[in-house]
Amino acid sequence: MNKSTKAKPFTIFLPSDKCSGCLTCQLACSYFTEGVFSLSKAKLRISRYEEGSRFMITFLPSCTNCGFCADYCPWGAIIKVKSKKEVG
Ligand code: SF4
Ligand code: SF4
Repeated sequence: MNKSTKAKPFTIFLPSDKCSGCLTCQLACSYFTEGVFSLSKAKLRISRYEEGSRFMITFLPSCTNCGFCADYCPWGAIIKVKSKKEVG
């Protein structure tokens, strides 16, 4: 079954340039979804762009869109939105 067809209460919005690379989101994800603090078990990845100090946020296909990572991001780099109208 294609997970993307599941009804989701919200979508994830990523404001550009806000990620500090702290990795709190990866730890929160692994804890709430797998019961352990493990960067490798998180369903998203934070990676540094080759040039500069900016970071890229990538969600893996296994992400369930639960939103815990957004709840625990201290920099507002991941935001939950209910509809596209709330983004703009
Ligand atoms: S998205 Fe938020 S919690 Fe995750 S690394 Fe960036 S600043 Fe930290
Ligand atoms: S939305 Fe949930 S499953 Fe997806 S990366 Fe964030 S915490 Fe993990």
